[in-house]
Amino acid sequence: MSGRPITPRRRNVAALFALLVGTFGVAGGSARAPAATRAQAPKAMRLYVFDCGLLNISPDGVARYHVTPAEVGEARMPVPCFLVAHPKGTLMWDVGVIPDASVEAQAQGGARSNVNPTSAAVVTRTLKSQLAQIGYSPADITYVAISHAHKDHSANLDEFASSTWLARPAEREFMWKEHNERVDPSFYTKLKTSKSIALDKDEYDVFGDGLAVIKSAPGHTPGHQVLILRLASLGRIMVAGDLYHYPPERMFRRAPPDNEFNVKQSAASRAMIEEYLRKTKTTIWIEHDFGANAKLKKSPAYYD
Ligand SMILES: [Zn+2]
Repeated sequence: MSGRPITPRRRNVAALFALLVGTFGVAGGSARAPAATRAQAPKAMRLYVFDCGLLNISPDGVARYHVTPAEVGEARMPVPCFLVAHPKGTLMWDVGVIPDASVEAQAQGGARSNVNPTSAAVVTRTLKSQLAQIGYSPADITYVAISHAHKDHSANLDEFASSTWLARPAEREFMWKEHNERVDPSFYTKLKTSKSIALDKDEYDVFGDGLAVIKSAPGHTPGHQVLILRLASLGRIMVAGDLYHYPPERMFRRAPPDNEFNVKQSAASRAMIEEYLRKTKTTIWIEHDFGANAKLKKSPAYYD
């Protein structure tokens, strides 16, 4: 057998074998099962977008934003959740509208809940399962932050009780205020005592390198905030929470909804953010914008 020259055909077979080993790993050795393998820290920051449900909004609900159903076209609002995976840790941003446990308890058709009389939520996929698909469990997540504590952004907070909560003191106070119908404290009972960093300045640089910055934009709630990311493929983007809901609110410069926690403060935050976007050449992502969300890459795909 020795000394036999390698024919081109044998070379091709060898190359194919090497390729297969490279792709699938060696059986019994480093066989890869993407859903079960724990994610490694990426070399460059990544952004994953998850599907955390959909809100069906009634015509009255649309009118609350000082726009008409004809102006908005699509009244439904997506509920996205976001994971920022940075070489130095991870940040979960906004955590859905119905807790995973309720979604799991629903065998078919998704879990439903009425966020308020004009907004009905449907959730078909758990946040946990979408994290698991890319190798994370809630217990692995370094930081958790929400744009604000309304029910459609905070449902799975308790899952992140071992993360460090990046919290604005004004929002924390709002979250446990008596008779506050805009929130559901049963979503975050464990956060009362979890490890937390108080964000008491305008901006907070999450990983210390300017790539992920949380910025105050109050009014919708007392501690409403936005997330600014610098990604190689997208440049600067702002995940803007509920600063706006429908794009025509921004396009036509409509006044903020009358039921904002503080309408004047909301209007001031919008003006301040518009100036910021212009100055820093940042693209805004309106989280509940159906058309824009439909075009986003969803996890397991990601932006880096
Ligand atoms: Zn919302």
